[in-house]
Formats: sequence, C-alpha cells, structure tokens
Amino acid sequence: MKSQYRVVVIGGGVVGASVLYHLAKFGWSDVVMLERRRLASGSSWHAAGGIHALNADPNMASLQAYTIDLLSEIEKESGQNIGLHMTGGLTLAGTPERWEWLQANYRIFQSIGIDDCELLTPEEAQKRCPIMSTDGVLGAMWADREGYIDTTGTVQAYATAAKKRGAEYYEETKVESLTQTAEGWQVVTDKGTISCEHVVNAAGLWAKQVGRMAGVELPVSPLKHHYLITDTVPEVAAADFEMPMTVDLEGFTYMRQDQKGVLVGIYEVDHEHWAMDGAPWNYGEELFQEQLDRIENELTLGFERYPSIQNVGIKTWVNGAFTFSPDGNPLVGPVPGKRGYWSACAVMAGFLQGGGVGKTLAEWMIHGEPEADAWPMDVARYGDFAQNKRYIRETTGQFYSRRFVMTYPNEQLPAGRPLKMAPAHDAMTEAGCKWGVSWDLEVPLYFAPKGFEETPTLKRSNAHDIVAEECKVIREGAGLLDITGFSRFEVCGPNAEAWLDKVMASKLPAPGRAKLAPMLGANGRLKGDLTVLNWGDGTWWIMGSYYLRAWHMRWFDDHMIEGVSVRDLGEEYCGFAVVGPKSQAVVEKLAEQDISALKFMGCGEFDIGLVRARVARMSVTGEKGYEINCRYGDHITLRRMLLEAGAAEGIRECGFNAMLSTRLEKSFGIWSAEFTQLYTPGMTGMDRWIDWSKDFVGKDAALAERDGNGPAQVQVTLEVDALDADASGYEPIWAGEERVGFVTSGGYGHYTGKSLAMALVNRDMAEPGTELSVHVVGVERPARVIAPSPYDPQGKAMRG
Ligand SMILES: Cc1cc2nc3c(=O)[nH]c(=O)nc-3n(C[C@H](O)[C@H](O)[C@H](O)COP(=O)(O)OP(=O)(O)OC[C@H]3O[C@@H](n4cnc5c(N)ncnc54)[C@H](O)[C@@H]3O)c2cc1C
Repeated sequence: MKSQYRVVVIGGGVVGASVLYHLAKFGWSDVVMLERRRLASGSSWHAAGGIHALNADPNMASLQAYTIDLLSEIEKESGQNIGLHMTGGLTLAGTPERWEWLQANYRIFQSIGIDDCELLTPEEAQKRCPIMSTDGVLGAMWADREGYIDTTGTVQAYATAAKKRGAEYYEETKVESLTQTAEGWQVVTDKGTISCEHVVNAAGLWAKQVGRMAGVELPVSPLKHHYLITDTVPEVAAADFEMPMTVDLEGFTYMRQDQKGVLVGIYEVDHEHWAMDGAPWNYGEELFQEQLDRIENELTLGFERYPSIQNVGIKTWVNGAFTFSPDGNPLVGPVPGKRGYWSACAVMAGFLQGGGVGKTLAEWMIHGEPEADAWPMDVARYGDFAQNKRYIRETTGQFYSRRFVMTYPNEQLPAGRPLKMAPAHDAMTEAGCKWGVSWDLEVPLYFAPKGFEETPTLKRSNAHDIVAEECKVIREGAGLLDITGFSRFEVCGPNAEAWLDKVMASKLPAPGRAKLAPMLGANGRLKGDLTVLNWGDGTWWIMGSYYLRAWHMRWFDDHMIEGVSVRDLGEEYCGFAVVGPKSQAVVEKLAEQDISALKFMGCGEFDIGLVRARVARMSVTGEKGYEINCRYGDHITLRRMLLEAGAAEGIRECGFNAMLSTRLEKSFGIWSAEFTQLYTPGMTGMDRWIDWSKDFVGKDAALAERDGNGPAQVQVTLEVDALDADASGYEPIWAGEERVGFVTSGGYGHYTGKSLAMALVNRDMAEPGTELSVHVVGVERPARVIAPSPYDPQGKAMRG
C-alpha cells in the first residue's frame, strides 16, 4: 500500500468495488479501495442476489438497466464467475389499481427505452412460473433481463476487473479517521496513513460512522430483512427450465430459484431498524435470529402464492441488515461543504443499482458531471433537516414497509411530517388547507370543505372540482397563495453582479427589475430555471424551487469567487402571492407606496399594511400577480391583512394544485419535469433567455448546440383527448407505431377545460396540428400538438 493515492474508496462491498472499477475504467488508476475485513463482508455477502428491472422512478430504472447489462461484462473482464442466472422475471398485480399501475409502468418503461417487457395474463404468467398459484392475480409484467447472481463472486469480479485496470485494493485494512487538508484528505488506517485528493464513503452498514469521521451526518439507517431458502421442491427439480425471479407486490415477497429449491424474500410491513448509528465495528459476517412473529402475515401469503413450498423444509433463514435513505434511493455525489468527500451510500439494492452508482460517481469525480441526471440519488437532495434521527427512523421505516405498497401520485404519506410549517400554517389549516410536502416544508395543495378526504387514485381525484374553483378564482378574481415554498438566495458583495453575470446565462435585470435566468453546467445542460431580482441597493435575490435549496447552494459554493456572499434565506423569508385580475385592487388597498408603478417583472420594497415587504410583480400562474416576500415573523399578519383587504374583491386562498394547473395552461415549464440536468436550452426553449453576447458558464456547449444541427427533440404542448385521467410524466408519445417522444408533465387545465401535457418530441413532430397519441395510465389516447400557452397566448393577463 502506498502512502499517496488520488482516491481512497472506503469499503469493499459491491458499491465500493463498482466505484473502484469505474474509476479505473474511465482512466483514474491511482486509486485504492480499503476493506476492514474481507471483500463483501458487510451486507453484500448475505444479499439474495436478485436483479429486478422494475422501479417506479424512471431514472432509477435506467440505472438498474445499466447495471444488469454490465454484469456479464465484468464477469468476462475479470474471469471471475458471478453465477449469473438470467431467468427473466415476473411482477404480479393483485388488485385492479395495481394492474392499472403495472400497465402504465409498462408504457413508461417503453419511454425510457426498456423494451424487453411484456404484459401477461395470469395464465401466461403461470406457464412461466408453474409453481405459482394465480389466486388473486389479475395480470403480470414480464421482463427478460431479470434473474440472480452470486453476490460474493460479483463483488470479487468488480474488484478483480478494477485491479486488472491498475487499481489496488487491500483487505484487513480499517480506516480509523479522516482529516481534511489543503490538498485533500489524510486517511489514517490501522496499516498506516494515506494522503489523497478524494475519499469515497462506500462503507455500507458503517456509512454513518465514516461520515462522522469527516463531520458529515448522512441520512441513512440500516434495517433488518428476511429471506428463506427451501429444501428441494419436487416441481422445481422436475422442471427443465429455471423458475423466473417473481415479485408478488401484494404479497410483499420476491422469489427466485436456488438450486432445486427456492429463495423467498420478505418486505416486512412490521419493519425493524438496527444500529441507527452504524453497525458495531466488531460486527462481521453475522446474521440475526429470524423473527417469525414479525413476518407471519407475509410468510402466509408467500406460502399461499407458492403452495408446493408448504411441503418442504426450510434449509436456511437469513435475517440481515442493509441501508436505506429516507426515499429509498442511494446517497451519491459530492457532499456539500466537504471538498473531495464523496458519498456512495444507502444503496438499498447494491447488486441491482451498484453498477449505475459506480458509473455515475466515477464520471462525476473525473468529469465534474455524470452523464445521467443524478438528481434522484444526489446526496444534496436532502438538507440538514434530514440529519434528525427521528426523521430518519420514520422515513426509512415508511419506505421499507411500503417497499411493495403502491403509492398514488395524489397520496400524502405521514413519515417525518409535519416538520417545518409556515407561520400561518394553523390558520390556513383552519381555513381548510390540505397539505403536501416539499423537502422539509408543508405546502398548501388546495382548500377543501370541512371533513373532505381525497381518495388516492391514478386518475382524476375527488379534489378535481375544488381545484377547478381555485383556478377560476385565479383567472377571474384574486387568489391568495402561500409562497413559502419558493427558494430565495441573497447575493451581495462588491463582485455580486460580476458573479451573477457569469453563472446565469441570461442578461441580468436592471435595478428594480426581475428576470428569468437559465443557469447551465459546463456541459451546456440546465442547472436551474431561476429568477434573478435586482433590488437596486446592491442586493440581488435568486428565486427557484424550494426543494433544490441544498443542491443549488452546493453549485453556488462550487463556483464562488472572492467578494461575493450568497446566503440561503429559506429560514428567514416566506410570503404570499396575490394573483388574478383583481390582485392590484387588493394590494393597492394595503400598499403605502404607489403599487401601480410596479410594472410586470418589476420589484421593490413596499410597506404592505404593517409589513415591510419585498414585492415582485410576476406570477407563475400567468396572471397579473404580486409575490409579497416577508420575514417569517410577519407571515400571519400579512395573510390576515390581505384576506381582510381582499374581502370586497372576493379573495380566496388557493393551493399549489391550482398553481400547477394554471402554469400548464401557460406552457410554463417547471424543474424536474420540463427542465432537468439532462436537457439543454435548445430542447426546452430556455435558449430564448440566453444573452449570447456575454461570457457565461456553459457558453461553449450552448453555442455548439445553437450553431450545430439543433436538438433532436424539442418541447411542445399537447392537448390530449383524455377520459378520466391526465398524463403526468414519462408517458410515451406515438406517431402511429413509432415512438416519437414522451410527456414531461401533464394535468388538467381547469380554466381552458383541456387535458394538457408538455412533452419532448422529435423535431419533425413539433408543428402545431400534428396528430399523435399518448398512453395515459396505460390507455392510448389521441393527442395533438397545439400552440404554446393555450390560455392567453399573448400574455396580456400577466402584463396587464
Ligand atoms: C437479506 C438481504 C437480502 C438482500 N437482497 C438483495 C438482492 O436481492 N439484490 C440486491 O441488489 N441487493 C440486495 N440486498 C442489499 C444489498 O446487500 C446491499 O444493497 C449491498 O450489499 C450494499 O453494498 P455496500 O457496498 O453499499 O455495503 P456493504 O456490503 O455493507 O459494504 C461496506 C463495506 O465497507 C467496509 N467498511 C466499513 N467501514 C470501513 C472502514 N472504516 N474501513 C474499511 N472498510 C470499511 C465493510 O467492512 C463492508 O465490507 C439484500 C440485503 C439483505 C440484508
């Protein structure tokens, strides 16, 4: 072992080994992996080794698809047998809603290029898995590339392939402490000290402690998990093919063949955390005693699904632990505030996702950006609030127990909530507010009559008419919207303007003005759909999506220069927006200064009643609107005064659901839908805000797009002949049999009375009037491209 490397990867489980392999593969061979015991001696050795394509998140599904393809490659490259059994796999649907969901997901898979799936009747499924009972099964999805592997062999294969490419790894070498230095990190091990530029925390069950060695508190916890392996099952032994990997979602089990028997794994509803502060250092290749009382119900369902296992013995019980983040996705990437400290933790399904995690992290370290949109697994998708132990316990527990439970898009889950509430929260609840959550914050969805409960559904819900009324208020009267759920950053200092001019691709606003500002990465892809406000006193604000606060802050820090300070105002400022044609009449009554002087996209400091507020005349609803930003302590007063002042104008509180419907009618894109790190200004229409005359981050790449052949796909608005459901995102779009694009977001335009979708389609399909079709909840519906902004295309309402 040398005393200096470029990278030290801590942990020789499947994730660390994959990171090591990908670093070496992409050209960094001065890298070492340190393992305190032997390779795979954390959770990796006792995994069930199942590989399963389905994931409700399309980005994660792509990552899994990459890993599955990689497995045979590393086997070949390393010469190490990984025991790959590509049996194909079944996912069973046991309720009508689940069957609908599976059909919808089948189409979404097509959208992201996973084409080896097919839908089956229960009888067809049973032919492929003859030991399965079809009782209660309404349908199934088959995927070719599913099966299982030998876990220890796979870790060894990654490590051996990495070694062949020049990387090193050492077993029986424990990292004991980490110290940040000017050049990087000093890694103290029980075998000596190493200096390096980068450290990677791939410590699996010990990730928490290896985080704490660097002062990092990761939102991760281990939970226990059971599977059993049966003795020989005669029907399995007699079959001339292998049973497929079968996931019974309503039964909470997965099953695969294991020699002549089967392995049945259980996602226990009655979950149990273990070692929330990280596994003990003396924990080795040990298992816990099985806890049958916790899994009785799931076990019964499993035995009913596979009746033949009722007659054979159980050869092995495994009750082991593996790690989860609050949303179940990995925590990957550069840890904010710790230069050179990288996370590759909380990988719940390391054999299924580890390849994709290794690739993403290695690209990030070497090129500064991963190729894929890493947001769903980015460690910066959480803020400091997620360090709280109870938050971690509740959210990871909820994820685990619901691993096989269907979550509807309009369903609100309780874990870790309510956490942060705007000061007027209780008064708004009293007024009927139904809440959703964004990051740590409760955000208003809509205001309903007392006693109203929304029914979870994949289709339009019973809140449809309530939201329609709120949209009407916004379009015809005055709506009051709590805008605590926007992010606000303050930029000041002598070089503030120069810095903003460099990181934003747009022109900067003049004093007293606001401007939409795309922010790009060096690769020319989007990093933000922001609004910059110039308050005219040397202070600037950047406003954007609330849940991106830590992610954007990391970006700002990474691009910081002398003489600039950027401060996240998320704990200091909140506010309300008054929107609609009567908004001016409402705000005028309270403003001590002449609010009519504030023109569209103007901003300034005003006295709104008793509140000293920073007001901007803009609205994402496409109406005339005033965003009134106030200090936290003033929020309750601001609401009360606006409601009183607006009474004569019929002001009504509205929520984000109405805001989303109205923005769709204006074809205004939003982050994570129309705008992501994968898309470019040309694809999304963001190029119209770019100031090509100046220098800015990402300019070379943006110019190459502008002056090249142009993007293959562009953003359009679609009107869908929907029935009782609207598109939501990632549904495929067809021209006849040809797939020509996919939905980025969709919903019902209540005021226009149209089911709308925004979509990325091939350029030759983008002309208004082009007839297409789209799968909505699995059902093909006619759709056509329409001109952008079906409501008020000239933008008279918002400028008026
Ligand atoms: C019962 C069970 C069944 C499962 N089934 C599946 C499945 O079917 N498919 C699937 O994909 N996943 C499955 N998993 C999950 C899978 O096991 C994990 O996702 C995977 O093992 C995580 O790998 P890792 O490398 O992140 O962590 P680990 O395997 O825990 O590896 C971390 C390594 O870091 C080392 N380490 C820690 N601290 C230090 C230090 N300070 N210095 C040096 N070394 C250190 C540890 O010794 C350990 O070897 C299952 C898990 C369980 C418990």
